[in-house]
Amino acid sequence: MKSESTYPMLAVADALAAVLDQVEPLPPQLMSSSAALGLILAADVTASAPLPPFAASTKDGYAVVASDGPGTYPIVGQVTAGRVADFVLKPGTVAYITTGAPLPPGADAVVMVEETTLLPLSNGQRQVMIRQAVRPGADIRPIGCDVAQGEVVLQASERLGPAEVGLLATVGANAVSVYPRPRVAVLSTGDELVDPTQTPGPGQIRDSNRATLCAAVLASGGLPLDLGIARDEQAHLEECVQKGLAEADMLITSGGVSMGDLDLIQPLLEHAGTVHFGRIRMKPGKPVTFATAVVNGRKKLIFGLPGNPVSSLVTYYLLAVPAMRKFAGWADPTLRRVQAILAQPLALDAYRPEYHRATLRWDSTLRDGQGGFLAASTGNQASSRLLSMRTANALLELPQGEGELPSGATVSALLLND
Ligand code: AMP
Ligand code: MG
Repeated sequence: MKSESTYPMLAVADALAAVLDQVEPLPPQLMSSSAALGLILAADVTASAPLPPFAASTKDGYAVVASDGPGTYPIVGQVTAGRVADFVLKPGTVAYITTGAPLPPGADAVVMVEETTLLPLSNGQRQVMIRQAVRPGADIRPIGCDVAQGEVVLQASERLGPAEVGLLATVGANAVSVYPRPRVAVLSTGDELVDPTQTPGPGQIRDSNRATLCAAVLASGGLPLDLGIARDEQAHLEECVQKGLAEADMLITSGGVSMGDLDLIQPLLEHAGTVHFGRIRMKPGKPVTFATAVVNGRKKLIFGLPGNPVSSLVTYYLLAVPAMRKFAGWADPTLRRVQAILAQPLALDAYRPEYHRATLRWDSTLRDGQGGFLAASTGNQASSRLLSMRTANALLELPQGEGELPSGATVSALLLND
């Protein structure tokens, strides 16, 4: 029987620094732009042609020669979007034009339809009264005014959101060099666990960590690899761990890192690779263990997360998400922080900083009407109670201390979504 962990207790910030120190971005891959949403670019993207590629009307109206000025003019032709004029506009005439259509040669401005009056046919000729004087260039988007030829429209290290995916489409970049999604193997450990599809027998419970962590990996932009449940048995555990290390960039186990006789993960990781830490000063999640192992010439990360459902998910967010982001090429892989104002008093832990699960929402009445994020606790914070993560969108960083923080106190909060 063990009585005390031999691992030094690290501060969370030091543990995170130790993790990030072990991660290099994955080798970039060429990927179809339609599959690259959420990924980070590994190379600049340049426009090979200007946008618009022709001088285009910004209005529905009439293409004119600006120096003609207001008056009544014959309509000698029309250009709608997607077509080009088969005529040259001469002074003293106008042509009907729609938004996005190329300006006919000879024209140098557009008068919008609201500033004109269509007149009855005269000798079979359509005519329009132009009521507004315009300057040359009015209501025309010149060639390259949105994107110049050769312009860098996206830079390496930028993340592809909807607008960025649209820019790729605009410039015809159908494949891009991006950092791939990290592959993350997820393994539950424990003789008491059964698959969620089964009815637990005496002494058994359903395995919830695997479902939670696989979903979390997907939500954080990784590719989960479900390794199932490992029994608390040395050889079987080792086999599962080796499988994870062979197939993924990162392995996440849950359970088996506390002080029980069947908590086999830490000695196994010491054997399989290098353990960088085995305890963190935090609540919940103290026994989280981090190791690396070189497999087939590549450094793999292993997170031995605690078994309690909340501890495993909180430590996943604090340590595994930044690691995944760094693998995926994020320049700043850490969780985003905001200030939040407590909606109720919260007790502090005398020995460890606590990551209190909370729901943040914007409240425009806070701070004398300036507005701020109001943090409502999710309730009972027991580390076994997954309900305390339900609806949580932030972890409040409560300092170690005596007593409680009053309602209205300002705390920093780590955002769980990106
Ligand atoms: P352990 O770290 O293995 O000692 O587990 C700590 C607690 O978490 C125990 O009550 C376990 O039954 C529970 N636990 C461990 N793994 C899981 C899991 N995958 N799903 C749900 N509960 C778990
Ligand atoms: Mg266990």
